[in-house]
Amino acid sequence: MFNSRSIALLLLAGAQLLTGHDAIAQKSRGKSKASKPVTGKASLAAYEKYIDDHNDEHLKEFMELVAIPTISSIESHKPDAARAADWIVKKMQSIGLSTAQLIPTPGNPVVFGSWDKAPGKPTVLIYAHYDVQPVKESEWSHPPFSPVIENGRILGRGASDDKSGVMMTLLATEAMLRTDGQLPVNVKFMFEGNEEVGSPYFKKFLEDNKELLKADFALNADDGQLDENNPSITVSLRGAVQLEFNVKTADMDGHSGEFGGKTPNSAVILSQIISSFYDEKGNVAVKGFYDKVVPVTPQQKEMIRKIPYDPATDMKILGTTAEAGDTSFLPLERVWYRPTLEIIGMQSGYTAAEGHSNIIPGHAMGRITCRLVNNQNGKEIVDLIIKHIDAHTPPGATITYKRSNGFASPMTFPVDTKEYRYLSEVLTEIFGKEPYQYASGGSVGAMLSVKEILGIYAYPLGFELSDENWHAANEFFRVSSLRKGQLLYCYYFKHLAEEEAKLNKH
Ligand SMILES: [Zn+2]
Repeated sequence: MFNSRSIALLLLAGAQLLTGHDAIAQKSRGKSKASKPVTGKASLAAYEKYIDDHNDEHLKEFMELVAIPTISSIESHKPDAARAADWIVKKMQSIGLSTAQLIPTPGNPVVFGSWDKAPGKPTVLIYAHYDVQPVKESEWSHPPFSPVIENGRILGRGASDDKSGVMMTLLATEAMLRTDGQLPVNVKFMFEGNEEVGSPYFKKFLEDNKELLKADFALNADDGQLDENNPSITVSLRGAVQLEFNVKTADMDGHSGEFGGKTPNSAVILSQIISSFYDEKGNVAVKGFYDKVVPVTPQQKEMIRKIPYDPATDMKILGTTAEAGDTSFLPLERVWYRPTLEIIGMQSGYTAAEGHSNIIPGHAMGRITCRLVNNQNGKEIVDLIIKHIDAHTPPGATITYKRSNGFASPMTFPVDTKEYRYLSEVLTEIFGKEPYQYASGGSVGAMLSVKEILGIYAYPLGFELSDENWHAANEFFRVSSLRKGQLLYCYYFKHLAEEEAKLNKH
């Protein structure tokens, strides 16, 4: 009946039957498997493929933008800012945005773009800036505006702060539009060109374009993560205000031999005024400076306790050998929740690299930035400092002041909102771990205006990392961050649409 071969054949048939069956079962499972939508990071596979396939092309584009010296604090670079703004408009048009236009301001134009072909879906407004800080060329290992890629780093001024924000958000949009032919949400972009000079025209831009900028959600791409592997959401920013003061003791520099011993020296007076700003603990000794400062809260202390912070790491970045400030506060408390008065520049006498001149300087200049917290108001703080300087000016010296154009107020983002939850869920999915609640000692004045005028919080979603030398020499941006940042934004658009759809169902 059954010899070994026939048994073998039977087994075979049975197996095939099984597989046939499995196939059927599989198929039905598959069908149910097939109909089960792919979610989470896996759902980004198609975009990931597009991003990787176009990586070289996109890096080339990134470097084209970084090569344009859009230094907003130097008037002669205005044509460069215009060139970069045009470049961004062309990029927006090439990826298929519905609109792409320049909106003039008294400074550099804002570049506005939008894709609005998802009726009934939420609208996301994205902020970034294409202007950059000035450079001290001699301190760079490579020319700051001839970007190169070395060891997975794009080297160049503004590569991180904040041309990464411009490129990452546009390229994410490109990946989705090129892959799906549409976006899951409507998107609007507003890229300003005066952030590095305190965004003096941004508030008016928002007021004049309220209707155009209408949105349900907003994101600020001019921000970062804790590091490459640890996500974070910045939930508060300090404010900032600047002041320049000029000490005059004579109409000209005097011969230090002829006049030394009886002639006031403006450099000495400048130094005396500056040292009068601080007490022995390093706190600011200007009367009334801390009047509107609120004690660090238990929640803030708890937040800091959770963050893997090592002062030595920060010191390594700058190459400092000690920390300063009132040690009755933790370092992060001092950077995030305490105000500062910083001397950001001073000048007097003969300071050329070569030679020296035996003079008594007739003029000296000092520049100040104050980082503000809680309810501190920039104008009031400058008034207090001017009062202090006037009170500390000896006979024989006159002081003139140059106030900055407005100031950035401190800002806090609520963490009990759906906006915050969506962001946290997106970061958790892409990084595989929950984001740290973080804060920043820096300021993005424009973000408060977005809340005040458009009524929405622009939550931070950027990829600038703290060791990328922002504002300093040898700034760089990680190529790996460009990829991850694109995926973050793709997933944010997708996740937002899904969550809002769920909400609308109810
Ligand atoms: Zn920036």
